[in-house]
Amino acid sequence: MNEIVSLDLKELEAIILGYGESKFRAKQLFEWFHKKMVWDYNEMSNLPLKLRERLAVDYPIMPLRIVERLTSQIDGTIKYLFELGDSHIIESVFMRYKHGNSVCISSQVGCRMGCKFCASTIEGRVRNLLPSEMLGQIYAIQKDTNERVSNIVIMGSGEPLEELDITLKFLSLINDPMGQNIGGRHITVSTCGLVPQMRRLADEKLQINLALSLHATTDEKRKAIMPIANKYSIAELMDTCQYFIKQTNRRITFEYSLIEGENDHEEDAHRLGKLLKGMLCHVNLIPVNKIEERNYKSSQTSRIERFIHILEQYGVPTTLRRTLGADIEAACGQLRRRYIKKRGE
Ligand code: SAH
Repeated sequence: MNEIVSLDLKELEAIILGYGESKFRAKQLFEWFHKKMVWDYNEMSNLPLKLRERLAVDYPIMPLRIVERLTSQIDGTIKYLFELGDSHIIESVFMRYKHGNSVCISSQVGCRMGCKFCASTIEGRVRNLLPSEMLGQIYAIQKDTNERVSNIVIMGSGEPLEELDITLKFLSLINDPMGQNIGGRHITVSTCGLVPQMRRLADEKLQINLALSLHATTDEKRKAIMPIANKYSIAELMDTCQYFIKQTNRRITFEYSLIEGENDHEEDAHRLGKLLKGMLCHVNLIPVNKIEERNYKSSQTSRIERFIHILEQYGVPTTLRRTLGADIEAACGQLRRRYIKKRGE
């Protein structure tokens, strides 16, 4: 990979030593990229000019460019559209919570998982992001807002476990004490449920939060809204979640987007309660966000309350996701779609 910002210290050292320079230059370079979040060799004042010129030729850097910034008048949530070096567009969201600022990042350009209610997947996956392009979203937002980001959720467009190595590299770089030093406990990785990768991730024993997009309680119902359910059954997913808990001792989050008339019946709540009873987990209910291309509607408040009440009877901790940025199309992939349509793609 000829892309320098995705490299760890060891890999940077190999380049620097190959140039016949002193090893400590690699650490300086790493700190420019990941601590100071500077991706322009011209600004790296403590590196010799000759070295900077050489790096600029061998390892050109393409920073992410902010093409749109929308601030919610309701809660101050900011939605960003970034242009990548090859002109593809991705989106990220900056949210302010009492416990700190959080950024929701994309892991791919588009997505090919095909969930019926999701705008990111409508035109499929364009490409994976590089680890640096995942980091770049966080760095650009910290610099733009001049505020520290303490939590990261990989819940934007894309399936972060599809190319697990990329996500693992991202995690190790964001976690690096010489860089942003954001610990696993402050990072959530959300997956539609790719069983083999979930197992591999469990074996890494990282202290991250794993969120599983369940959204249905029978295989038949899940298949109707999530094509991945044709590949892995709910029983397999549950086994895999138990394995993850065994390996990491971390609580799993089950995401469940409530779609009126589809998965919000009392029987669904009872089945979900039975499925998760006694497990180290919690349920995060998400009123489905309406997207232009589909006519799924969010469940009414009374049905949501009933759903929560039933889950409580099974002792399953449940939260209802707060809706942030309702006025700026903050849900998965909506803003990007509007932008690329406007651009005429
Ligand atoms: N591919 C990963 C991460 C990206 S999606 C995954 O599937 O988990 C992040 C979460 O948003 C998932 O739970 C997804 O199902 C949910 N989601 C996508 N579109 C949505 C919508 N229109 N309304 C509510 N939730 C949605």
